Order: sequence, then structure tokens, then C-alpha cells
Amino acid sequence: MQDGVIAWLRAAAVRVHEQAPALTALDQAIGDGDHGINLDRGFTAIVAMLDERPAPEDGTADATATADLLRQAGKTLISKVGGASGPLYGTAFLRGAGAVTGAGDDASPAAAFVAALEAAAGGISALGKSTEGEKTMLDALFPASRAARAALDGGGDLAAVTAAARDAAAEGAAATIPLLATKGRASYLGERSIGHQDPGATSATLLLTVLAETAAAGAAGSSAATA
Ligand code: ADP
Ligand code: MG
Repeated sequence: MQDGVIAWLRAAAVRVHEQAPALTALDQAIGDGDHGINLDRGFTAIVAMLDERPAPEDGTADATATADLLRQAGKTLISKVGGASGPLYGTAFLRGAGAVTGAGDDASPAAAFVAALEAAAGGISALGKSTEGEKTMLDALFPASRAARAALDGGGDLAAVTAAARDAAAEGAAATIPLLATKGRASYLGERSIGHQDPGATSATLLLTVLAETAAAGAAGSSAATA
């Protein structure tokens, strides 16, 4: 799992950088125009953390190493990103780390991911005092975690559960357009927040899209290896 998380974080950093202007444009419409800049700064710092991070000691269980990695990524986001999204995403990673540890070494990557996504959404909700329907990243993340859980219960592997999460997140993000923002900076706009897609729901979808791509590539790689 650890290698997959590293591949995801590195690919996410590239995509966040490419999409930063688009995320910032969304935040210009209903916020202060820094969401893309904030995430780009955060993921650049995560890549620097990955580059400097010593490999885990031999014999470290994969779940332990993966949780440690997610925890470091979370701490990096909290310390490097200004704005609401740094602490919110940072907390999501910290909660995700706790869930990976809780799932244990015997959990499948798919089960560990679903537990991590549920914990991440719950952590954001607790810190942000927010829930679905308020035009935030949670409008992508809660539907994504429900869809991922359903896919897992249906026997889905990591590629299937991450694809389900991505699809539900994209749908949830699009559904933020007609919503009135009641949390975060966008809420200051009142009715004028209506008619724009939430930047955080968009970036959450982007992160899950890259994760689904990483999982699909990993699945293709492993079936090629066994072919
Ligand atoms: P800031 O709003 O401080 O400028 P960003 O622009 O980086 O921070 O992030 C804005 C995004 O953060 C919003 O689009 C929204 O999805 C998310 N957000 C803001 N406040 C909350 C909250 N209380 N709960 C959940 N998400 C929130
Ligand atoms: Mg902003």
C-alpha cells in the first residue's frame, strides 16, 4: 500500500499544479482566489517530504509504513497551507492514517482505503463543523465514501472502489453548483454563492480521480506481472 500511496501523492502533486489555475478561478468566483495556490503549495511540500523521507526500517509492516506516510502528509499540509483547506485536508490525512492503522495489517488495500476515506470525511466534518449540503468538499467526499463502501461490500477491489469514489465525488461536486454556501468564505456571499461549483469539492474530486487512475495502473501492472 505504501508504494501506491507514494505514487498517488506524486501524481496528485503534478495534477494539482496543472489544475491550480482552474481551482483558483473557482475560488475567485465564491472565495478569495487562493484554493489552487494553497493546494499547489501543500502538494509541492508533500513531494519535498517524500524526497527527504528515509525509507522505513526493514520489517516495518506495510500498514504501519502507510499510516506513517499519510500522517506526515497531513502534518505537511497543516503546517504549509494557509487557508481553510490546509487544516481540513491535513486533518483528513491524519484521520485516514488512524483508520489504516485501525484496519490492521490483514486488511485489503480496498478495505483500508474505504476506512480511510470514511475517517477523512468524518474528520473534516468534525473540524469544519460542517456536513453535506453546505457547498463544501464534503459534498464530494461523503457521497464518495458511501459509494466506495457500497463497492467494497459488493466485492470490489481497490481499482473498483476508488473508481466508485471518483464517480460519486464528481457527481457531488457538480451538484454543488445550485447550492447556497453556508460554511467557509463562500458563505459570506449568501445568495451570490449560488451558480458556482465549490472549489474544495472540485479539488477533492481531483485527488480521488488521480487515486483511481493510480489504482487502475497498479492493477494493470500487477495483472501484467502475473500474465
Ligand atoms: P480559504 O477559504 O480559507 O481561502 P481555500 O480557498 O484553500 O481556503 O479552501 C476553500 C474550500 O474549503 C471551500 O471551497 C470548501 O470546500 C472548503 N471549506 C471551507 N470551509 C469549510 C468547512 N467548514 N467545512 C468543510 N469544508 C470547508
Ligand atoms: Mg480561498
